[in-house]
Amino acid sequence: MELKRIAVVDDDEGILKILHKVFSKAGYEVLTLSRSVEAMEALLRFRPHLAFIDLMMPGIDGITLCGQIKASQELSSTKVIIFSAKKFLADRRTAQQMGADAYFEKPFHYRDLLEKARSILLEQIRVRFWGVRGSIPTPSPRHVLYGGNTPCIQVRIPDRESVLIFDAGTGIRNLGHFLLSKRRSWHGHLFLTHLHWDHIHGIPFFDPAYLTGNGFMILGPDPPKGSLQEAIEIQMSTPYFPVGLQDMGAQLTFRSITEGDHMVDGLEISCIAANHPGSTLMYRLRHQGCRLIYAPDNEIEPRGKGGMDPMAGAREKMRSFFEGSDLLIHDAQYLPDEYDKRRGWGHSSWTEVVEMASQANVRRLILFHHDQHHGDEDLDALSESCQAYLYERRIAMTASVAREGEELLV
Ligand SMILES: [Zn+2]
Ligand SMILES: [Zn+2]
Repeated sequence: MELKRIAVVDDDEGILKILHKVFSKAGYEVLTLSRSVEAMEALLRFRPHLAFIDLMMPGIDGITLCGQIKASQELSSTKVIIFSAKKFLADRRTAQQMGADAYFEKPFHYRDLLEKARSILLEQIRVRFWGVRGSIPTPSPRHVLYGGNTPCIQVRIPDRESVLIFDAGTGIRNLGHFLLSKRRSWHGHLFLTHLHWDHIHGIPFFDPAYLTGNGFMILGPDPPKGSLQEAIEIQMSTPYFPVGLQDMGAQLTFRSITEGDHMVDGLEISCIAANHPGSTLMYRLRHQGCRLIYAPDNEIEPRGKGGMDPMAGAREKMRSFFEGSDLLIHDAQYLPDEYDKRRGWGHSSWTEVVEMASQANVRRLILFHHDQHHGDEDLDALSESCQAYLYERRIAMTASVAREGEELLV
């Protein structure tokens, strides 16, 4: 895939150096220019998709340069972001009149700048929740707002046609309908965290898998005995289900994966084992500097009392896996007082998850895998408690409770 090109024009060499590093690391091809008078010629050769231009520069100022770019036929599709330490509304307006696509004030955090670049280039990853409930589907009037389908999320990466799915709980049924409402032909990858029912029992109802010509690769950990493929074949066999896997129509392939780093059809995927019964993985997907983590079933055990902490090593391993992620979707099945009675069941109390995410400098946390006993009112209350918890402890992290049907931009 061709790299997107970003040009930065600023007379401050320090800023040019930092932005070159930030954008290159995020997977962009970068050109930095310190002399605005010569910039236009270089931009015409480089043909950037996006130009970051400082407002105040000797020679030609940023707004004039923006006007020249927008007036040029060769650069008509180049997006422009003006950045400046000046906070005057008049400058912002003039930049807009000259066709600037955005105005950014200094000082800025490089993450905000990257996010702006991605959103301007329509490059943000989209995550859609098709099922957020843990353990068993809960179709009832008490579960309307947050949804009753079991885990399934869809990840959409710009410029990528194939579908990426994490887990195949009952939510995958509606995802299948959604996909077929767009077109008939689909290829993609289905990443399974583990083989507990709530993560696989939607597979027989994923309609795109019944159409010849379609193709899906199913990835996940092998169970302690047998293989991933055998486990799914058993689910799709008599007496459990009348249609066999081989009769589904689409071409289904399997890839067993374990802890470590993997390249999957050009995607950077990393896995570590979750603290959950059986072979269970947590996934990290990296794309152009953006890190997204899916960990629906994982128990973060609280610190031991009296200085004893046998979980310290495991907790540090998780923390470092989550470190700096842009989005962490994590098991938060229990309230703290419920957790005490269910310790060792493989699920977390939400307060432990918030603490871990905050220590790992996560940007956005989504509390996931809701307990079947928690109705909409309980989850509303959890959401409020979580906001109060963040506020009281001055934790600068966005956190929310996963809702079926919700779509996020990462
Ligand atoms: Zn589960
Ligand atoms: Zn499980």
